[in-house]
Amino acid sequence: MTSRIKAFSVEFDPLTMSQAVDKCLALASRRGSSMQYVVTPNVDHILCLQGNESFQCAYANAALVLTDGKPVRLALLMLGYTIEETVPGSDLVPAIFSKVSDKQSSLSVFLLGAAPGVAERAATAIHQRWKGVDVVGTYSPPLGFEFESSENHKIVEMVNSANPDVLVVSLGAPKQELWVYNHANELHAGVGLCVGATIDFLAGERMRAPVWMRSVGLEWLHRMLSQPKRLVPRYVKGAIFFPIIVLRQLVSMR
Ligand code: UDP
Repeated sequence: MTSRIKAFSVEFDPLTMSQAVDKCLALASRRGSSMQYVVTPNVDHILCLQGNESFQCAYANAALVLTDGKPVRLALLMLGYTIEETVPGSDLVPAIFSKVSDKQSSLSVFLLGAAPGVAERAATAIHQRWKGVDVVGTYSPPLGFEFESSENHKIVEMVNSANPDVLVVSLGAPKQELWVYNHANELHAGVGLCVGATIDFLAGERMRAPVWMRSVGLEWLHRMLSQPKRLVPRYVKGAIFFPIIVLRQLVSMR
């Protein structure tokens, strides 16, 4: 296993997409007493992690920490660390499904999160596009579910009775990471993937940026313009505070 890179209160696994896919499939096939899970830090996560001990704990217990987004990769490069490729969650999930399909293998998946009806539409799209990938359950939890022990218990039971290899968790950060961390010991899925808006993308509910925008690192601009009210404040905050975090890290390394 490649050694981890420690920066900004995160320990990154410097894996390529293909290595990350293989690692996720290996985790998916190895059921233990507790579900392993994967997180994909972007600028927003890094801001949120500063001084947030619960989020840091959730991160520290992740089996894989994959670099989501070019700004984070660039910042790591400025610190002298090379990450060959970024591995955004919304690319990782389709890449895992494609590998399963190409190998004529099989994978069972549970989709947790997104607005009511969206995960069902994502399931239909997945069944049409990737042979061998079977969506064995979907659930859109109600607002505030994470504070209701009966609702949490219900979700754990639902996932465990569907017995998926992969639990795709799309609840937004830090909710998804905290929920998975708090319930990993009760969950029997092979691996949990904390992957933000991925279910929305799979359902066609939201559109990914065109490939050219993604390849030049402008996916954030596309996302921001598609949901300006919600995302402009997030990106402005990132543009102000992330450079400060990077600078602080640079100074501490001297
Ligand atoms: N979401 C949800 N329950 C919640 C909060 C969010 O199912 O309590 C879903 C939301 O509908 C969306 C996803 O979580 O599908 C996360 O979207 P976001 O754009 O925040 O993801 P990110 O920016 O982290 O990729």
